Amino acid sequence: MTDARQPVATGGCQCGAVRYAFYAPLENSHVCHCRMCQRATGGLFAALAGGALANFAWTRGTPAFFPSSNLARRAFCEKCGTPLSFHYEDETARMYVTMGSLDHPERAGIVRQFGVESRLPWVKFCEDIPGEITGNSEEEQQYLAKMRTNQGPARE
Ligand SMILES: [Zn+2]
Ligand SMILES: [Zn+2]
Repeated sequence: MTDARQPVATGGCQCGAVRYAFYAPLENSHVCHCRMCQRATGGLFAALAGGALANFAWTRGTPAFFPSSNLARRAFCEKCGTPLSFHYEDETARMYVTMGSLDHPERAGIVRQFGVESRLPWVKFCEDIPGEITGNSEEEQQYLAKMRTNQGPARE
């Protein structure tokens, strides 16, 4: 795939089969502590940096997608398993990539945190960053009411 635009941020999976680029500065970089993000990344939280979908392209290979719910999809490399992205299916049309998959994660920073109700008590590094509880507003509760999770059971 060729693109005449100049990438501002690039990244990809661990094995190199899948690469991506943003053609505008990253926005709204955040961590999400919610259980879905913990399970999707296999980590303690998801660290995500994003931008408008129109300013994003997969530049090498094609990722596989898991629809973690009816509202959102998460991309990963089929060969090496690296979690690569998160995006909502609705009109927000924003794409978030996993910060650790960026070539320069140190340029992203963190401005918000979400899902703080699930933040592990010993995860202390971003306590001074504004946080939101999932379902905090009526608008968000209405949105979440439409969500049907595709996750497996959390426990057997
Ligand atoms: Zn890979
Ligand atoms: Zn989350």
